[in-house]
Amino acid sequence: MENLLKEALAMQDWLIDTRRTLHRIPEPGNEEIKTSQAICAQLDALGIPYTRIGTGVVGLLEGARSGRCIALRADMDALPIEEPQDRPYASQHPGYMHACGHDAHMTIALGAAKLLARRRHEFSGSVKFLFQPAEETTGGAKPMIEAGCLENPHVDFVLGLHVIPELPAGQIEVKPGPFYGASDNLEIRIKGKSSHAAYPEQGIDAIVAASAVVQMLQTIVSRSISALDSAVITIGKIQGGTRSNIIASEVVLTGTIRTLSEQVRKFIGASVEEVCAHTAAAYGASSEVHISPSYPVLVNDEAATEFVRQTAIQVLGAPNVHLRQKPTLGVEDFAYYLRERPGAFWHLGCGKHPPLAADSVGSISAGATAALHSPDFDIDESCLPIGVALQASTAMRWLLDI
Ligand SMILES: [Zn+2]
Ligand SMILES: [Zn+2]
Repeated sequence: MENLLKEALAMQDWLIDTRRTLHRIPEPGNEEIKTSQAICAQLDALGIPYTRIGTGVVGLLEGARSGRCIALRADMDALPIEEPQDRPYASQHPGYMHACGHDAHMTIALGAAKLLARRRHEFSGSVKFLFQPAEETTGGAKPMIEAGCLENPHVDFVLGLHVIPELPAGQIEVKPGPFYGASDNLEIRIKGKSSHAAYPEQGIDAIVAASAVVQMLQTIVSRSISALDSAVITIGKIQGGTRSNIIASEVVLTGTIRTLSEQVRKFIGASVEEVCAHTAAAYGASSEVHISPSYPVLVNDEAATEFVRQTAIQVLGAPNVHLRQKPTLGVEDFAYYLRERPGAFWHLGCGKHPPLAADSVGSISAGATAALHSPDFDIDESCLPIGVALQASTAMRWLLDI
């Protein structure tokens, strides 16, 4: 495994170049045209065959003999954020930026493909590379699965990662069990009756009823969920009324529900409907609730997470491998793969850090200090070989059963 890290460090120039090429061409979800072309060109160069699912790309590297299959997933899409132009590798697509590090994820998957392709005669089984569109928007994982990306050959283990600037480059963290939350989009329509503002008794004030609904919704989390469980109900937008001297007939509340278990998720969904109906009724109003489910809870397999942790300890040393205690209420559509197969999703530190090895080559970017989804976000590019070494080592150890 030490050799894999050395080899990954030796390809740092190529990794930086690949990452910057992808960074310059950010594209939104399901429009990753140039991005997928760049990926296919790299896979062609490595002699790795691939199939296409929409703008997604599924590469398949086969070993010496048949055997198990491990999949490495990388998301491809960028965000509608304007990038400052002071970086030499800044976005050339106005209005879009790789501000969530998906350029790094794709680069790491390609780097792992390059390392593993050199060793294809040493292992049985195969490695699948899932380049997946639209993580930030509609969720590309589910359509990829429905199109059969986990079959032919049957995937037995799924592996994914996300860069995080909160950890310095050179360090990683893993978390067994629930890691990312489930998200549901919420739209509530409160219906009253319009009248003159001076004669509220002649109407049903949807704004007053909606205000009560907003307050009551918060009591679901504080009074109906165990203090040891986690949930968030956020109303992020209120729209209603026409002008100052008219009682509003309708208010629309939109928001999001975040939970960490399917049980709590289901309970909150039912409670929201009930609270809205009864609260609105207390004011003589009525309610319509529409909950559209988004990503499910991301639950890491315990054994697979431990396998990644042990690999990381071998490659990076125990002090650089953290066991995260608390999950996050952010979301990640890698959750869909983990509902189908055992596997693990882990965090790769991309925060500012001195280069790992004194002899490492290439110019390292200034380093990441800003949060994901911020126009100032950047990675410390010395995290790229770390990601490559870990994904490749985990795949090798698992295929060799060591
Ligand atoms: Zn993101
Ligand atoms: Zn992301």
